[in-house]
Amino acid sequence: MNLHEYQGKELLKKFGIPVQEGFLATTPEEAIKAYDQVVESSKSPVAVIKAQIHAGGRGKGGGVKLVKSREQAAQTAPQILGMMLKTPQTPGGMNGPGKLVRKILVTEDSFKPDFESCKEYYVSILTDREKKANVIIYSTEGGMDIEAVAEKTPHLVHKEYVHPLAGFQAFQARNIAFKLGLSGESFKNMVRFVTNLYKAFTESDATLFEINPCLKDGYGNILAVDCKVSLDDNALFRHSDLEAMRDTDEEDPAEVEAKAYNLNYVSLDGNVGCMVNGAGLAMATMDIIKLSGGQPANFLDVGGTADAARVEQAFRIILKDPAVKAILINIFGGIVRCDRVAQGVVDAYKNIGEIKVPIIVRLQGTNAELAKDIIDQSGLRVRSAILLKDAAELVREALLEK
Ligand code: GDP
Ligand code: MN
Repeated sequence: MNLHEYQGKELLKKFGIPVQEGFLATTPEEAIKAYDQVVESSKSPVAVIKAQIHAGGRGKGGGVKLVKSREQAAQTAPQILGMMLKTPQTPGGMNGPGKLVRKILVTEDSFKPDFESCKEYYVSILTDREKKANVIIYSTEGGMDIEAVAEKTPHLVHKEYVHPLAGFQAFQARNIAFKLGLSGESFKNMVRFVTNLYKAFTESDATLFEINPCLKDGYGNILAVDCKVSLDDNALFRHSDLEAMRDTDEEDPAEVEAKAYNLNYVSLDGNVGCMVNGAGLAMATMDIIKLSGGQPANFLDVGGTADAARVEQAFRIILKDPAVKAILINIFGGIVRCDRVAQGVVDAYKNIGEIKVPIIVRLQGTNAELAKDIIDQSGLRVRSAILLKDAAELVREALLEK
């Protein structure tokens, strides 16, 4: 689960990490109120209006604007609110449709006392799976595209690995501040910043923290001007306060619906919808779809209780994807009997009404033969197979029919 910038900053604040003052707005009126609050706390008429969407690179798409007066704020806020913001990270990139901006964050200008006396750094934390350790990635080249920095000037991107048992050590924090070229107060502030950041990362069960830019202002303060936070879904049960921050407007609607029905669903780019019980079988099914010349349109694990109601719901979610040209249902009848699943498929098919895409069903395990009979005799346009290989062949034929 991803957080918005304003939510990420709330989280950072709780761990004593400095962020500039800011207020959220969802309407132009609220934006003016937020602007007035910012001016009151910063004693400056300069503020920044920032689109809140789950994608970075907002500055490039016109989603981050500096305003220098109340009039300018009143003019800019309605332009950003409601816009379809295109950034290199929104679906389809700068040529895609963009993402609707529903919320904006109005913040004080963090570049104090002026832009020239400030310096932007890059700091992120994530898990390096190969090294089996968390890593802090940091660079003096903040503010811009870190991927480009890593490609053109890899020697300017540094890494500090954290020993999983020993944890983040004080000398590592000092090493980071030193390599960033800091001294005096800003050195101490950076040590505190990364130490607290690492604490926030582990204690919130995050999978990614990306602070870009991490700013040193003209007074030597170190603060998070932007933040991208991703949390581990499997650990959210320990963080009800963070879970409450979920913004379903920003998530794939099919995935949101699947979650409500307790279906394990991830949408993908392909043309063959799959409905499977068990994650391992789902992975194998995706492989066999690829071998047969198709591309999986989704990963869907209906779980151990594939009754008619769940099968029907899974059908409906798969059918929402217009790219789906065939559906492969692959169920292993272990605890559930195949004939019951087959009956569920037939019932769901009848309840939903006309389904235009071909459906291939492969049921294996307890009562598989009986299940095949149920499907064959149902009179529905459902093709059945017992071997996975045969099912793949049927998928291939179905895709060629079009
Ligand atoms: P992103 O484009 O989505 O990564 O959004 P950021 O929050 O990183 O903002 C993009 C850029 O806008 C930053 O790299 C800064 O150059 C600029 N910016 C952000 N906040 C401020 C601010 O408070 N004052 C000024 N002057 N510029 C800012
Ligand atoms: Mn940024």
